[in-house]
Amino acid sequence: MDELHPDQHVDSSAPAIQVRQLHKNFGDNEVLKGIDFHVDAGQVVCVIGPSGSGKSTLLRCVNRLEEPTSGQIFVEGIDITDPDTELDKVRSRIGMVFQQFNLFPHMTVLRNLTIAQQRVKGRGKTEAEKVARANLDRVGLADKEGAYPAHLSGGQQQRVAIARALSMNPDMMLFDEPTSALDPELVGDVLDVMKKLASEGMTMMVVTHEMGFAREVGDNLVFMDGGVIVEEGDPVKVLGDPQNRRTQSFLSKVL
Ligand code: ADP
Ligand code: MG
Repeated sequence: MDELHPDQHVDSSAPAIQVRQLHKNFGDNEVLKGIDFHVDAGQVVCVIGPSGSGKSTLLRCVNRLEEPTSGQIFVEGIDITDPDTELDKVRSRIGMVFQQFNLFPHMTVLRNLTIAQQRVKGRGKTEAEKVARANLDRVGLADKEGAYPAHLSGGQQQRVAIARALSMNPDMMLFDEPTSALDPELVGDVLDVMKKLASEGMTMMVVTHEMGFAREVGDNLVFMDGGVIVEEGDPVKVLGDPQNRRTQSFLSKVL
């Protein structure tokens, strides 16, 4: 077993994710204009909002795929915007799942799940395969370990991508529109896996247009527009009775 918390500075009483006054510019384009929010351990936060509102940029800042222009982001109490922070250690606690599944096409499902475990976590082949098989089982794809991605449906590929992220034993998972590239009939299986993860207590931040999922699974809903959080709260309340005009307008188009 690898240590869950190789870094001594993890503060288990801190929120899983805390974002303070986050700004992100791309050149002259200010894409995030002062974002504040937090995700408690075990919580599921859903992020909704129109295209271009900064949802992906926010998620990418949380695991430093993008460098914030200003502001602070704490992951389990560690300031990941501090230049002294060991980013690799923090990143290893955060699993990420994208709209495009990004599997390695020339590798079997099993190898897709073992390669980062071996290279990043330093696990031996036997242990990596054991972990991989347990996680394939978790997403209902135990029988697909020898398949190549091209031979799987989009929904199966996305479940492999989730199993791959889980195989790194993350403390939290970030999902960026995980079902948006899928044919409608394949969405349910992926959402079911995500629901199961949530019920097992995984901390999750989910950018999604699946309002049913947000309502059913989300502990908190964040509505973004134009680089700011316009409204947030209990998903049932926000979706059922949005207070802000922009939230109302967006929901009237998607619901
Ligand atoms: P969303 O995920 O809500 O659709 P994004 O975070 O992808 O929004 O994008 C928000 C804005 O940031 C858009 O105007 C987009 O063009 C811009 N943007 C995103 N990534 C980059 C980048 N790497 N370089 C320049 N502009 C970017
Ligand atoms: Mg996006």
